[in-house]
Amino acid sequence: MPVFSLDPAQKHWCDELRAVAADRLRPLAEKGGPGRINRPLVAALGELGLLDRMLTAGALDLCLLRESLAHGCTEAETALALQGLGSYPIVQSGTDGQRARWLPEVAAGRAVAAFALSEPGAGSDAAALALTAVPREGPDGPGWLLTGEKRWISNAPEADFYTVFARTTAGAGARGVTAFLVPADRPGLTGTPIEMLSPHPIGALAFDSVPVSAADVLGEVDRGFRVAMDTLNLFRPSVGAFAVGMAGAALEATLAHTADRTAFGGPLKDLQSVSHQVAEMATRTEAARLLVYAAAEAYDSGAPDVPRRSAMAKLFATETAQYVVDAAVQLHGARALQRGHLLEHLYREVRAPRIYEGATEVQRTIIAKELYG
Ligand SMILES: Cc1cc2nc3c(=O)[nH]c(=O)nc-3n(C[C@H](O)[C@H](O)[C@H](O)COP(=O)(O)OP(=O)(O)OC[C@H]3O[C@@H](n4cnc5c(N)ncnc54)[C@H](O)[C@@H]3O)c2cc1C
Repeated sequence: MPVFSLDPAQKHWCDELRAVAADRLRPLAEKGGPGRINRPLVAALGELGLLDRMLTAGALDLCLLRESLAHGCTEAETALALQGLGSYPIVQSGTDGQRARWLPEVAAGRAVAAFALSEPGAGSDAAALALTAVPREGPDGPGWLLTGEKRWISNAPEADFYTVFARTTAGAGARGVTAFLVPADRPGLTGTPIEMLSPHPIGALAFDSVPVSAADVLGEVDRGFRVAMDTLNLFRPSVGAFAVGMAGAALEATLAHTADRTAFGGPLKDLQSVSHQVAEMATRTEAARLLVYAAAEAYDSGAPDVPRRSAMAKLFATETAQYVVDAAVQLHGARALQRGHLLEHLYREVRAPRIYEGATEVQRTIIAKELYG
């Protein structure tokens, strides 16, 4: 059954999540520093059972979680999503030992995860990654030494472990990549934070002969690109959900503001150009939401057209959120640009999702390939 609207239990859950985001998580987020991992916030997500829920959720529940948290606290949303991105390769491809060691800690919000795929020379073209895994004979049997760089890694350099994608076979493109679970305290692993436009914790990692063994491999040797793609396939619609949550918050603020603010003898909403703009924002947000839910449901039901639908949902929702937040800024006037205003925050937050986990242009390439295939 396609989801055209949520059932009462799902709506109730979303309302609860929005309230938790605004009342419990927002104050914690405000105490955190920009660009740093906010550990009390991650711990609260654990205490509330939301990380555990995220690790076991299907795509639709993941979308509802992300949309609802984003509505009230983007920092909480991002912290939850990054825990998922970094640890889903363990959920999906980890050994019993790896799962037992890390997943309870991730779910409790005690261990912070990160997903390390991008490099200075390999972003959209992730299969061009060059971080090399050179075979070696170690004390605990055969293994590898990792050497190279990762860049734009959310939660780096403060995360507790990294899912690292490294080249085990030269010249083999996507077929020569292996996923490794690398604890942050491995010798030779260092990192530096990067300041971004949004308050995103992010950094670069340098690998100088970092030792890994067969016990650190996630999935199979030379099959790591699939681990990365399976993770991104699950998360792609939920990036759209994050965007829909931000658009929803911007829309709600705009409805309140344009009903309240008077100019030229009446509330702004009585100007037809204003109310029509708000109607357009609401319509596009709803269209984005439906595309996201439909893509998530397609994923959960194992439908064959998931790549096209996920790409459409991510593309449309992130572009729509940018439009809606920008229009909301316009209708609020100067106050929206004051430091600390919700829209000033959303204006900075809304930009990056059009670039990460497949830029808008890459989504169009996926859609076109599916259409002509
Ligand atoms: C806030 C943030 C968080 C991130 N977190 C992570 C993370 O946790 N882990 C991780 O591994 N990476 C992460 N990234 C990196 C992200 O995945 C890359 O930025 C993304 O893949 C794009 O790569 P790039 O920035 O190198 O841009 P490039 O690949 O250099 O592309 C630049 C631009 O060229 C255009 N372009 C590229 N390819 C095509 C194409 N095929 N067709 C048409 N146009 C194209 C697009 O406009 C694109 O934006 C993050 C990035 C940001 C901004």
